[in-house]
Amino acid sequence: MEVMHRFPKPVVYISKCITFAAVRYDGGMVPSAFVDALKPFITPIIHCPEVEIGLPVPRKPIRVAADDIKMTKLRLIQPDSGADLTDKMKKWVKQTLDDMKEVDGFILKSRSPSSGAYDVRIYPSKGGKSTALTNRGAGFFGGEVIRRFIDKPIEDDDRLNDEKIADSFLKGIFTNAAFRKVKNAKALVKFQEINELLFMSFNRKYMRILGDIAANVLKRPFDEVKKEYTANMALLFSKPYRVSSVINIFRHALGYFPGNLSMKDKKCFFDVLNKYRSGGINISVPTSLMKSYVLRFDEKYLKEQTFFLPYPGSIMPNHVKNSK
Ligand code: SF4
Repeated sequence: MEVMHRFPKPVVYISKCITFAAVRYDGGMVPSAFVDALKPFITPIIHCPEVEIGLPVPRKPIRVAADDIKMTKLRLIQPDSGADLTDKMKKWVKQTLDDMKEVDGFILKSRSPSSGAYDVRIYPSKGGKSTALTNRGAGFFGGEVIRRFIDKPIEDDDRLNDEKIADSFLKGIFTNAAFRKVKNAKALVKFQEINELLFMSFNRKYMRILGDIAANVLKRPFDEVKKEYTANMALLFSKPYRVSSVINIFRHALGYFPGNLSMKDKKCFFDVLNKYRSGGINISVPTSLMKSYVLRFDEKYLKEQTFFLPYPGSIMPNHVKNSK
């Protein structure tokens, strides 16, 4: 299945210090087996907000400080120099994101006051010199990415060490990239058809909503339909799938081989599913086994389903932890 499949390249924004350049405040670079494995299959957009607003490498750390208790007024400061970088950073973020016309997902450096999307430390005011923690939130760039691109997969490098989160992220960006090539109603119906099981594994409700939108019984203009489809697909991918939902898809797929599989084959498959359920093996194992059945019995419907090959199989590095 894979050799014949050509995957469109997703456009992915990645924080520059994650494997691309040693631009961190301490002069270091962040290793990531996941990003290294992803590189050949994507078109990356890479930036380092701190370097691009003129800070040197290495540099004294900067941090987010809240001016008020409600944290509505956040500033980006460098406590050692007393510099307030807020306006410079806001200007750079606006310009960079205004220029970003096409993007399928984001990988942001975790906990960075500039790039981080989640879990960034926010310090109290007084020049940000206090070490007491007030709260956690988003960094200046990461926060604006969430605000503008809520319909795209956004992850940080730490979370991508979890197999299910990484797998969900890959499914989201490769499906987004494929969707960009859908240019008419007929192509949309086909897109829906081949992604049916993949969508079902994420969220049945949205899979049905997408099916209704693609069917377009009211014969609405294609642009209108595509817009509505895009918004609902984003909601479908907004949360990682549940392992139990994926297991249901495998059970459902097994029903396409009535009388073809021996008792031994079926037992072997259920053993594999149980191991996957308990976190002992990664999703690629039941997927490969099911793919071998699909090819052996030339099962037409399943052969087209992206669920069994949503992205190039060699991306998922072995180090990622399996999750339930
Ligand atoms: S986290 Fe962002 S700002 Fe900090 S070094 Fe990495 S790319 Fe630059």
